Amino acid sequence: MSNLQTLIGYQAIDKNLLTIEKELAATEEKKKYAQARKFLKNAQTTLDGYENKAVALSGELSRLEAQYNEVAAELKEFSEIDFSELEENEGELAYLKKNAQGLADTLRSLKRDLASVKERMDAVTKDYKALKQKTIAMQKQFKEYKEKYAAVAKGKEAEIGSVRAQLAAMEKDIPADVLERYKGRRKEGLWPVLVPLKGDRCGFCSMDLPRAAISKLNEKGVIECENCHRLIYKE
Ligand SMILES: [Zn+2]
Repeated sequence: MSNLQTLIGYQAIDKNLLTIEKELAATEEKKKYAQARKFLKNAQTTLDGYENKAVALSGELSRLEAQYNEVAAELKEFSEIDFSELEENEGELAYLKKNAQGLADTLRSLKRDLASVKERMDAVTKDYKALKQKTIAMQKQFKEYKEKYAAVAKGKEAEIGSVRAQLAAMEKDIPADVLERYKGRRKEGLWPVLVPLKGDRCGFCSMDLPRAAISKLNEKGVIECENCHRLIYKE
């Protein structure tokens, strides 16, 4: 590829852009902005989860309360029975007492369940409130640092513009398909994008290239490493 030198030069200029991008990414403003953005992105899902949980628990609470009232009413009926009238009938008496005992046990168990549900509801409410509070703080941080970061980025605008102009001027001398691949890899965060062939290996990850790939390299000037996806050229 006669345009290989242009492509190599292109990457050298692009490195300046990368340096500026890294500088920007390392600023406190960018870090705090990104931190808040990431937090807020997940917070809503978690808050929704808490809300759903609270709704489910509240449903369970109503169900248990209804059950409790029902059993309590039934037990009250037993307390109104005049057992003295039944003293003659031991079988009947024992049966009723056993029933009353069963209802009392059920009531105790329902009471425990109710307490446990209430406890879980309190815990969810507490978590929800804490997260809500943090969300409000992070919303403030997001707004503040979005603006601060925009100001920092603006300070680098001219420099970035100049590098981009240099890159744009070179692009017409690079085959469109190669340029597209280069830009795609660069966008994915791979660096360097372009690496020299070392022996029969990729100059970045050292993977052995098959013979077919080498002949394709000789023919096309640039191939892509199947392992690390860098673009390989022959020096
Ligand atoms: Zn590789």
